[in-house]
This record gives sequence, C-alpha cells and structure tokens, in this order.
Amino acid sequence: MEVWQDKVFKEVDTNRGPISADAIVLSAGTRNPQLLDPVGIDCMVKPSKNQLFQLREPTLQQLLNTKGFNEQNVIPFTILPKGQVYLRPAPREKSLWFAAAVGVGQPFRLEEDPAADAEFYTENIYPVLSEYFPCFTNLRPVNMWAGFYDINSLDSTPS
Ligand SMILES: Cc1cc2nc3c(=O)[nH]c(=O)nc-3n(C[C@H](O)[C@H](O)[C@H](O)COP(=O)(O)OP(=O)(O)OC[C@H]3O[C@@H](n4cnc5c(N)ncnc54)[C@H](O)[C@@H]3O)c2cc1C
Repeated sequence: MEVWQDKVFKEVDTNRGPISADAIVLSAGTRNPQLLDPVGIDCMVKPSKNQLFQLREPTLQQLLNTKGFNEQNVIPFTILPKGQVYLRPAPREKSLWFAAAVGVGQPFRLEEDPAADAEFYTENIYPVLSEYFPCFTNLRPVNMWAGFYDINSLDSTPS
C-alpha cells in the first residue's frame, strides 16, 4: 500500500481462499492486534489472562443453601473489597467459582494455550477468601480454567 493510495478493505485472504465483502468486521478477539498491526491499524486490544477456580466441598453448603440469603437461599454473586476477588455460586453443581480482577502487576501476554495456574489461587485468591470466609480454610480447587479478556486499552473494559 502506497501512502498516496486511498485505503479500502474489500477482501480477506483465508485458508479457503479469498472472501470479498462490502464491509469487513474483524472479531478475532485477542488476535485482532496480530491481524491489524501489520496494516497499521491500532485496535487498542490487550490480552489479559483471566483464571477461574472451582471449589466443591460439603462444608460450602452453608453458602449454597441458607434460608434468608435471598429468594433462592443462595449466596449471590459477590465481589470482595480486597483484590476484587469474586465468587459465583453454581448451586446445581454444588460448587462455587472464583476469580480475581487482574490489573497492574499482571502482564498483558498472549499465550497459545492458556492454562490456569493453581499458584494463582493459592497466592492471590486464597488469602483474601479465607480471611473473609473462614469456611474456605484449607480448601483447594477441584477444577480450573483460563482464557483471555480482550482489554480495551482506552477505557480498560473487557470485551
Ligand atoms: C475466564 C473468562 C470468563 C468469562 N466469563 C464471562 C461471563 O461470565 N460472561 C460474559 O458475558 N463474558 C465472559 N467472558 C468474556 C467472553 O468470553 C468474551 O467477551 C467473548 O468470548 C468474546 O467473544 P468474541 O467473539 O469477541 O471473541 P472470542 O470468543 O475470543 O472469539 C474469537 C474467535 O476468533 C478466532 N480467530 C482468531 N484469530 C483468527 C484468525 N486469524 N482467523 C480465523 N479465526 C481467528 C478464534 O479462534 C476465536 O474463535 C469471560 C472470559 C474469560 C476469559
């Protein structure tokens, strides 16, 4: 592309050949920068790894089934003040899922096959969680997974 040319995107090369369109919407998530950086478009997307951890123990029933919490008798989605550790109840699975908001201190780094790291739970989530809720003391996750938020670097919102 020369600087004096008008730029019009009309076609995309794919592994099944080129595809033409009047309008092209790129929705490759955290891969958007890889596709747009080479053509000089800043899509303002940063990859931010988010990790989820599942805990399932009979002792957690008091959170999953206590009369008076609300109509469902279950602890609601809760964000703890420290570290923005949050929990989501999964009553049908008799479990709770946990994560923590990531920010300064956590790198923007794309990984090919992201995996959750048990150490992230032990060092980041557990200390906060067990302080607010003693019923989590000594409990370890039975399941975990990780993925990427596409963080907009203008306003820090994930998509
Ligand atoms: C741990 C975690 C928990 C979340 N929890 C929630 C939640 O509870 N509620 C909620 O609403 N959202 C949640 N989200 C966010 C939600 O997953 C994303 O907002 C949503 O998946 C974004 O969809 P998308 O289609 O924009 O991108 P993606 O789902 O990332 O899809 C992009 C697609 O593009 C494909 N692709 C990439 N590069 C290329 C290429 N060169 N050629 C062809 N294809 C390509 C990828 O394979 C992928 O299929 C969560 C995210 C994470 C990581």
